[in-house]
Amino acid sequence: MTIRCEIVSQDRKVFEGDVDIVVLPGADGEMGILPHHAPLLTTLKFGVITVRTKTDEQNFTVAGGMAEVQPQIVTVLADAAENVAEIDTVRAESARQRAQEALANLDKSGGDMDAYLDLEAALRRSNLRLDAAKRFRTARRSTVASEE
Ligand code: ATP
Repeated sequence: MTIRCEIVSQDRKVFEGDVDIVVLPGADGEMGILPHHAPLLTTLKFGVITVRTKTDEQNFTVAGGMAEVQPQIVTVLADAAENVAEIDTVRAESARQRAQEALANLDKSGGDMDAYLDLEAALRRSNLRLDAAKRFRTARRSTVASEE
């Protein structure tokens, strides 16, 4: 028995498939959603969504958003989301540096709260991508290595 999962970000469909379990970074903590789960609506924290089948596991970074759970389907509307396997770490590292430098300059010039919040969010997104790439890609490599 499986549950359908769709992960949609503001600019694209990131994942669609039938899976055994979806693990979400819900507002009140990590939630494992199995087929026939009771309906619910939750906001999502910055974190990682994991979808698992008997033969496969995929991880997606999610920079906030919401999830709607129905017994047959989980729909995630993410502010930004990407498959960890597709994360460009060079791009994330340069986004992180750009945001850090701009924040430092903003601190000196004082004041603009909107600009501060935008840069702070950009910094959190890039840190999330870098952390997830490190965590999940290393985990996969060591699993493969131990199987060899
Ligand atoms: P950047 O400054 O590098 O564009 P950003 O945090 O401003 O980073 P977003 O606006 O969150 O980027 O995302 C724009 C699109 O690019 C989304 O589809 C997102 O999934 C994708 N994306 C952003 N950063 C990366 C990355 N490092 N690797 C792969 N895809 C990324």
